[in-house]
Amino acid sequence: MAVNRTPFIAGNWKMNLDHLQAIAFVQKLAWSLADAKHDAADAEVAVFPPFTDLRSVQTLVAADDLPLAYGAQDLSQHDSGAYTGEVSGAFLAKLDCRYVIIGHSERRTLHGESDAEVNAKVKAAHRHGLIPVLCVGETAEDLEQHGASAVPVAQLRAALEGVDAGKGLVVAYEPVWAIGSGKAATPDQAQQVAAALRGVLAEIAGEELAAATRILYGGSVKAVNIAAFLREADVDGALVGGASLDLDEFSSIVRFKKHVGA
Ligand code: PEP
Repeated sequence: MAVNRTPFIAGNWKMNLDHLQAIAFVQKLAWSLADAKHDAADAEVAVFPPFTDLRSVQTLVAADDLPLAYGAQDLSQHDSGAYTGEVSGAFLAKLDCRYVIIGHSERRTLHGESDAEVNAKVKAAHRHGLIPVLCVGETAEDLEQHGASAVPVAQLRAALEGVDAGKGLVVAYEPVWAIGSGKAATPDQAQQVAAALRGVLAEIAGEELAAATRILYGGSVKAVNIAAFLREADVDGALVGGASLDLDEFSSIVRFKKHVGA
């Protein structure tokens, strides 16, 4: 992790915690980090609750001036209209979301999201001033057939077609086989793929922007393995699923520098 990129720890709650549970969780997380004297310069923290929680989280964060960012887990590629069940980036911006996850493997596999849709969603996020947390990653079969980098690199290229990455971007490398499996990638693999992704960013958007963009690792991150990922030169944080729902565990991941002496 380079010194000029603030580490980013992002909690993807998936379809867990209703708005009342979200209020309790965010309040306790803020207390836990304040108690531990967490320094925001050590890691930026963001939570990604379900859509129905966002208004409650916004109200709490604003009222108590909490040092936490938040965002949505998806958005529509369209801005408004007859798209039943979809949520516009305009609505997320009104809720002061800073980030939005795009192209999570669960969206790609369970909802058939294509590279073209992911690309359209990145553009939609930018239209509304949201920073995409763009997920890319290979399946176990991809890994066996093409190695670790080929699919994530191709997904990144497709997602950034015609995109001005200068409008804000976080990339999350999430090997599909590592998500929710308890079997994380090795820090060495995460580094190799993150370096390849940074190379693509440099090619597309220039060295300066590539050097400033945070690239996260995601897939079975826990308090016990976070520090090893963050020691890698091109890994700037983590997208955390299951462990982000356990307050002590997530708080511990955020404080990776202190508790493991990274
Ligand atoms: C995720 O869903 O983005 C994720 C990384 O999940 P987990 O941490 O549970 O593997």
